[in-house]
Amino acid sequence: MIYLDNAGTTKVGEEVVKSMLPFFDEFYGNASSLHTAGQIAKEHLENAREKVAKCINAEPNEIYFTSGGSESDNWAIHTACRYGELVGKKHIITSAIEHHAVLHTLDEMKKRGFEITYLPVYENGIVKVEDLKNAITDNTCLVTIMFANNEVGTIQPISQIGEVCKQHNVIFHTDAVQAVGHIPVNVKAMNIDMLSLSGHKFHASKGVGALYVKRGKPLFNFVYGGAQEGTKRAGTENLASIVGMATALEIGVSQMEQTTAHETQLRDMLFKQLSKIPHSKINGDLTNRLPNNFNMSFEGIEGESLLLLLDDAGICASSGSACTSGSLDPSHVLLAIGLPHEIAHGSLRLTLSKYTTLQEIEQTIKIVPEVVEKLRSYSPVWNSLQKGEKQYVIQ
Ligand SMILES: *Cc1c(COP(=O)(O)O)cnc(C)c1O
Repeated sequence: MIYLDNAGTTKVGEEVVKSMLPFFDEFYGNASSLHTAGQIAKEHLENAREKVAKCINAEPNEIYFTSGGSESDNWAIHTACRYGELVGKKHIITSAIEHHAVLHTLDEMKKRGFEITYLPVYENGIVKVEDLKNAITDNTCLVTIMFANNEVGTIQPISQIGEVCKQHNVIFHTDAVQAVGHIPVNVKAMNIDMLSLSGHKFHASKGVGALYVKRGKPLFNFVYGGAQEGTKRAGTENLASIVGMATALEIGVSQMEQTTAHETQLRDMLFKQLSKIPHSKINGDLTNRLPNNFNMSFEGIEGESLLLLLDDAGICASSGSACTSGSLDPSHVLLAIGLPHEIAHGSLRLTLSKYTTLQEIEQTIKIVPEVVEKLRSYSPVWNSLQKGEKQYVIQ
């Protein structure tokens, strides 16, 4: 099996598994207990917090462990909105291409009377800082813009956004789930107030993540109960996963340069070779892009069918259709970068990891054109394009 869906989730690294194992049957104490077993657990917990903090240039007491990216996004937005309500500011700025963990939370805030501005991202999938400056008002309580996009891999101008938010004294949250452990993230230098990260996107286990909150910024309790996580988020800590996440992040950061070089080389081979497919188009920006992200559209085919045939050929990929949500609507991200519905439907996302091999990519480069050709041969749309009854959208 060739696994090219690493934006969906990643394999847990061997060293990560190894670091987690003692916490199931050896150091299984509850970090809140005062006895020795509890204190050992507590020490490992705080050690993990220090490691995670260091990897994004935060302080340990600015890191709150959560159940993952979705919870962190929810918590950040809930907190900023609660603060906004207290100070009488009810305007939020975000981008059109956020993850649903952000967009659906904002839908809820809209019901609670918040006004939301969705910044456009243009064809390259990147927000314009000018647009942000124009959108900020005295009523703005939160700017939440993702660090890197999970579908088209575009990286936003986070430092510049942070600078604008700082000047206007507006809370800046970034969903950095696709960025942390993959590209450099420095919360201090980038003026980030809140940041979400998730372990399973960088070779740790699922169901563990963190929210970074800059000291001095408001943070309201999200889960009530015990006094864990500085009394802000109750629940016995998922220590094995937290330790694994710290291990994975340290490895990710220490190997970043070589992983980036490896992924970029293989990813660019995919772009170069698969661009030879007629009437195909690369989605997103080629420069400000995650090293492991490939996204292209092929005219005249359905992404869903493409996925199924690729799966038959042993390749795990992802498409631009929101099949996961059970709807046939194409992804809001592909529509936001200006793709017409029918083109967005024929999209393919391949996301690599440090474990992806040259051989796997060569195999993919061989199979994808065959599958696209096969699907086109069945496609009535392709047939009428070929006959000239319809005009190609992608030349
Ligand atoms: C995966 C992902 C999330 C959700 O993280 P979970 O840990 O799966 O809840 C949020 N934002 C982005 C950009 C993601 O890629």
